[in-house]
Amino acid sequence: MGYQKIFDRRGLLLLLSLLLTAGFFATTLLGYQVSKRAIRDAIIGQDLPLTSSNIYSEIQKDLVRPVLISSTMASDTFLRDWVLKGELGVGEMARYLSEVKQRYGAFSSFFVSEKSAIYYTGEGMLKRVAPGEPRDAWYYRVRDMKEAYEINVDPDLANRDALTIFINYRVFDFDGNYIGATGIGLTVDAVRRLIAEYQQRFQRTIYFVDAAGRVVAFGNQLDRAADLRAAEGLGPLVERILQEKSGSYQYQAGGDNHILNVNYLPELKWYLFVEQNEEVALAGIRRTLYVNLAISLAVTLVVVLLTHLALSRYQHRIEEMASTDKLTGLLNRHAFIILVDKLMAAYRRAPQPISMLLVDLDHFKQVNDRHGHLVGDEVLAGVASILRQGLRESDIAVRWGGEEFLLVLQSCNLAEAARIAENLRQAVAQARIAGQDQGFSVSIGVSEFDGVETTDQAVNRADGALYQAKHGGRNRVCVASSA
Ligand code: GH3
Ligand code: MG
Ligand code: MG
Repeated sequence: MGYQKIFDRRGLLLLLSLLLTAGFFATTLLGYQVSKRAIRDAIIGQDLPLTSSNIYSEIQKDLVRPVLISSTMASDTFLRDWVLKGELGVGEMARYLSEVKQRYGAFSSFFVSEKSAIYYTGEGMLKRVAPGEPRDAWYYRVRDMKEAYEINVDPDLANRDALTIFINYRVFDFDGNYIGATGIGLTVDAVRRLIAEYQQRFQRTIYFVDAAGRVVAFGNQLDRAADLRAAEGLGPLVERILQEKSGSYQYQAGGDNHILNVNYLPELKWYLFVEQNEEVALAGIRRTLYVNLAISLAVTLVVVLLTHLALSRYQHRIEEMASTDKLTGLLNRHAFIILVDKLMAAYRRAPQPISMLLVDLDHFKQVNDRHGHLVGDEVLAGVASILRQGLRESDIAVRWGGEEFLLVLQSCNLAEAARIAENLRQAVAQARIAGQDQGFSVSIGVSEFDGVETTDQAVNRADGALYQAKHGGRNRVCVASSA
């Protein structure tokens, strides 16, 4: 005698999970996007510019000094006098150059005379420069350039790992005639160490680019194509970058987004490129995103499960309430209509005799009149309880009307049903209900469903038998003849 499911929970639960999932995912993804933007803004606005300016200031510290030293050498009275006097006494020049080199910790110091083409160093005469010699090309470039000096990195240096910078200063006599080139060479280890540290700690790519868009070798740190225009993603940007001299850029390469900060170093006429692979920087918050999504999913599942359980409980209760008569605890007529449909469907699949008992209390009006309505209620509940005790689990007991009960007995033919009805009648008569010292009598009409009629017709036939019982003097069982 189960209750009936009135509404389907699946739609509601599906909607709930969709709403929760959508809500969680939306907030999680939104949070991720916000963090992503914050990290990108930090990279563009702070991290890369800071790295760039740190490297830049290290370079300046390392560069400004040698430029100043070379400038001093170029305007040194001794040097110029010594040249004008005919380059006599190589030892004096060597001592001068050696002293400059030692005092400033330079890698080398030099003077090349225009008149004699001799290359002087701290050790004395090194060699003579010649226009056809590729290794001397720098000298003829310096001789013909308009600027006062150039900063040059020799790519063929013996100590390849170190960035070695030459400052080549043009020297003039007191009348303004060009008489040679002087300067010093310096290794810039501090810059190199700084770059190595940034590369490792923050996985940034740091390199220099010259005015022609070529990557300048920087010891062993070079990992780019020599011509930046050929670089994936970055190539098409190069022209703009060289023109704008400094700024922030983004490009795609290897499936990743790269953020680039460029700074122009006027002393070197180089561009300092500092790059960050955004995917690497985002790895942390991406992990957080996945964890958050997993938590959201788990919470959704738990909420849906709890909702399912709570709904089941309430649905069970509500539907039980809707299908049960409050006073007697028996099924009401509404529940019977649903149950009887199932019963008939089962009958059609596998026919089994079904019998109907319609039970009515005799002279119940008088009970109410004599003892009051409350006692009447108690009697009704008591009779219902006796009836139910006399039935099997598979039988159906319905409060059919005010003091009328319908009992549907499964796998029970008319003779058996009549016997059960008689037992029930006696049980009610013998019971002492509601503190009354005498029993109550019931009349019962019995019919058996004939397999063809409707259930209403079978109940009507039982009703006819009940009418007979009443007319026959009450307190008895009457059996309906077949339809
Ligand atoms: P009989 O069936 O033997 O012909 O006589 P009766 O007095 O039982 O007949 P009738 O059907 O005319 O009266 C039924 C009475 O049952 C009328 C009504 O006041 C009473 N009744 C119906 N429902 C309830 C109920 O829920 N509680 C109480 N206390 N009385 C009810
Ligand atoms: Mg009655
Ligand atoms: Mg009645």
